[in-house]
Amino acid sequence: MMRPPPKATEQHARASADYADKLARTRALLTRSIADFSPLKQASSLGAEDVVITHLINSLALDIPVFVLDTGALHNETLALLERTQAHSRASIEVYRPDHTAVIQFVRQQGQESIFRTIDQRKACCDIRKLEPLKRALTGQRAWITGLRREQSTNRGAVDPIDKSELTTLGRIKLNPLADWTWGDVWHYIATEGVDYNPLHDEFFPSIGCAPCTRAISLGEDFRAGRWWWEDESAKECGLHATHENAKTSQKAPS
Ligand code: SF4
Repeated sequence: MMRPPPKATEQHARASADYADKLARTRALLTRSIADFSPLKQASSLGAEDVVITHLINSLALDIPVFVLDTGALHNETLALLERTQAHSRASIEVYRPDHTAVIQFVRQQGQESIFRTIDQRKACCDIRKLEPLKRALTGQRAWITGLRREQSTNRGAVDPIDKSELTTLGRIKLNPLADWTWGDVWHYIATEGVDYNPLHDEFFPSIGCAPCTRAISLGEDFRAGRWWWEDESAKECGLHATHENAKTSQKAPS
């Protein structure tokens, strides 16, 4: 009988030598964030990093709301995890959805498949389904918490735990409490704390976004190879997170 593939926790959980220090720094940053950066929220895609942060917010009993962008194109597995999270989280879970009329208009006029034809069409879809709801989610916030890690891609190699690069342009601080965590650290936390996670991670989806734009990766492929795989590496951001360089100059990015 064929043995089922190992769970993501079995595949990836591997704590760094300084994991305990990283965890302590992350806890300290989240704890002081309320006094130092309120009002603030956690942005969660319900991916591995984000479920770790939400678990920390809940276990530390921090009054930090969490928001999720339901783009209307998420996997059923992600929607099911969203329901479970809403049912069990101490912190409030807010869900922001795109403007229905704008989505219908885009699909009718351009066709959803147009996202595979040009980067502009793909970004237009991301604008409607992600960036506009994100702008609403972050209105009035002084800071937001994300799951960005330096290891995720070259674009993210310079991520700081307290990122003030958007402060002058967008008036917000971005907190990245897992900036120096490895993928092994993230899964070590999930495994040891018994955190609920998206089962797509068990099927070789390290990074999970909208269903049409996410695929499983093969052995040896880059961490974000499964996102917008038909585009150049340099274009692989949806605008939620401007690159380190772009963030210094961008006036347009709403995140
Ligand atoms: S990730 Fe894909 S489906 Fe989701 S908003 Fe962007 S282009 Fe549209």
